[in-house]
Amino acid sequence: MADETAKAQTAKPGGDTIFGKIIRKEIPAKFIYEDDQCIAFPDVAPQAPTHILVVPKKPIVQLSQAEDSDAALLGHMMLVAKKCAHEAGLSKGYRIVINDGPDGGQSVYHIHIHVLGGRTMGWPPG
Ligand code: AMP
Repeated sequence: MADETAKAQTAKPGGDTIFGKIIRKEIPAKFIYEDDQCIAFPDVAPQAPTHILVVPKKPIVQLSQAEDSDAALLGHMMLVAKKCAHEAGLSKGYRIVINDGPDGGQSVYHIHIHVLGGRTMGWPPG
């Protein structure tokens, strides 16, 4: 079992996460983007030549717990993901991923979009 998949089996929702600490600048990350609603920074364990995380400042735990009132924020995150992909020069395309829960492979319970690119992605995903 891949490391991240194993982590996802034991990760638990609830409480502050490493992304909360990054948002509050308590631990370092190289911010690629920041506005009043979200941040973007490189994944510490990249799964592709470009691997960026887009994280909202609001600590939504996971997609399955998002509410109708989060629609504008979620849409904004998609557009930030698009901008980050453009800035990263991913002109041949890219993949965006949101992992949800243990079966979805989520290891950090603060919703985030993965932006992956710089190589051809396989399908189906593992
Ligand atoms: P997920 O498994 O979908 O919850 O994704 C969590 C991601 O966060 C993984 O790809 C990790 O490599 C990444 N990650 C964990 N800690 C950090 C960190 N301090 N800085 C950047 N990325 C991180």
